[in-house]
Amino acid sequence: MSEQLFEKILIANRGEIACRVIRTARQMGIRTVAVYSDADRGALHVSMADEAVHIGPAPSRDSYLVYERVIDAALKTGAQAIHPGYGFLSENAGFCQACGDNDIVFIGPPVAAIEAMGSKSAAKQIMEAAGVPLVPGYHGDDQDRAILKAAADDMGYPVLLKAVAGGGGKGMRQVWSAAEFDEALDAARREAMNGFGNDDMLVEKYLTQPRHVEIQVFCDSHDNGVYLFERDCSVQRRHQKVIEEAPAPGMTDELRAAMGEAALRAARAIDYQGAGTVEFLLDSDGAFYFMEMNTRLQVEHPVTEMITGQDLVEWQLRVAAGEPLPATQDELTLSGHAFEARIYAEDPDNDFLPVTGTLSFLQPPETSRHVRVDTGVLQGDEVSVYYDPMIAKLIVWDENRDKALQRLTRALREYRISGMTTNLDFLYNLANSAPFRAAELDTGFIEKHHSEIF
Ligand code: ADP
Repeated sequence: MSEQLFEKILIANRGEIACRVIRTARQMGIRTVAVYSDADRGALHVSMADEAVHIGPAPSRDSYLVYERVIDAALKTGAQAIHPGYGFLSENAGFCQACGDNDIVFIGPPVAAIEAMGSKSAAKQIMEAAGVPLVPGYHGDDQDRAILKAAADDMGYPVLLKAVAGGGGKGMRQVWSAAEFDEALDAARREAMNGFGNDDMLVEKYLTQPRHVEIQVFCDSHDNGVYLFERDCSVQRRHQKVIEEAPAPGMTDELRAAMGEAALRAARAIDYQGAGTVEFLLDSDGAFYFMEMNTRLQVEHPVTEMITGQDLVEWQLRVAAGEPLPATQDELTLSGHAFEARIYAEDPDNDFLPVTGTLSFLQPPETSRHVRVDTGVLQGDEVSVYYDPMIAKLIVWDENRDKALQRLTRALREYRISGMTTNLDFLYNLANSAPFRAAELDTGFIEKHHSEIF
C-alpha cells in the first residue's frame, strides 16, 4: 500500500453506501469510523466499521446533516478524511469548506466545483462557455415575465420551466402552448419559492421522448481525466431512477466518445477532481444535451463497476489522497452488460408511498460474480420513517444485455422479503415486460407502458 493513503477515514453516511465505502476501505487496509443517529444504533454500517460515533437523534437534520457534529467526530477519532457518500452532506459546499478548515480531506471535489454546479442556470452558463451542448433555452439572470415568455415563444412549444435552484423534479412545469404560459410560470414559481426559497426560472425546449444517459467521469489533481462510459437511467418514476443499466442500449462508439469528451470538457471547465457524473438528455435523433453535473458518487455507480472491473470507491480514495488516476482512458475497457434495480419499501398499489416496518424475513439471491447485492440492512432490522426507504440495490452482470436481463429477472424472483410491502413484483414486471426486453427506453417508459407493468 502506498504511504500517501489514509490510515483512517470517517464515513458521513448510513445504509448501503456507508457499508459499501467501508468494504473498500477495509480491503485497502484503511481503518473506518461510522457515525450514527439514535435510530441507527444497531445498524449494519455501525457494526462493520472499526469505530462508531453517535451524532444525535433520528431525524437527519439533527444528526447526519449537522456538519459540526460530523467534523467533531472526525477530529475526536483522528480520521484524516471524510467520505460523504451520496445525499446528506455530499454536495454541501459549506461542509466541504469546513473539512478543509479543519485539515480534514473531503473525499470529493473542491468547494468551487460543488458551488459551480449548485445552480442550474450558473452551471449552464459555464457549460455553454465550455462548448458543452445545452438544451436550447433561456438561462439568463433577467427574470422579467415578458422576457421568459418571449424566450418560450421564440423556441416554440412545448417548453419546460425549471427552478434554477431546483432538484428532485420540484419546481418544474411543462408548458404546451403560449396560452398556458402565465399560469404555469406562477405555479412553478410558487413551488420553487416554497421548496428552495428562490423562484428564478430557466426555460428549456421540452424534449418529448428523450433518454437519460449519463457519463461517469473521474479527474485527479495531476490534470488527468477519464470517462468510464455511460449509464442509461431512462426508466424513471417522477424523475426518480428505477432500473439503470450500462452500457446504454444502441450506443455507438462515435456517440459514446462524443458524449465522453463533452463530459470531460464539463469537468475540466470547473477544475473538477474525484468522481462526477454528467447527465445528458439524449434525443431520438442522436443529439445530446447537458442537463446537470452531480458532484458525488451516484447511487447507480455499481453498474459502471461491473462493466469496467474498476472499484470507484478505491479510485475516490486514491485521488483524494493525491495519487494519479489508477487507469488511463486507453486502459479502460467496457465488457458485458449490467443492470441495477432499486429495491424499496414502498407500495406500488398506493402511489408508491413509502412503507415502514420490521424486515421479519430477508433472503437476498445468492451472490456471485454475476449477482451483487449492496445493502445496509439485515433480517430483523427496522425500515423507519426517518430515512430513504431503499432496502437494497440488486446489481447483475453478464456478457450481453439479454443474458444480464435474464439474471436480473431470476434474481428478483429469488429475492425474499417479508414484513413489509416492497416494489419487488413491480421491478420484476417492469424488467420482464416486452418493451423493456426490447430496450424501448425513454423517460416516459413507465407511464407509457403502465398497463403492461401493473
Ligand atoms: P432535478 O434536478 O429536479 O432532478 P433535472 O434537470 O435533473 O431536474 O431533470 C430531471 C428529469 O426531468 C430528467 O431526468 C428528465 O427525465 C426530465 N427533463 C429535464 N429536462 C428536460 C427537458 N428539457 N425535456 C424533457 N425532459 C426533461
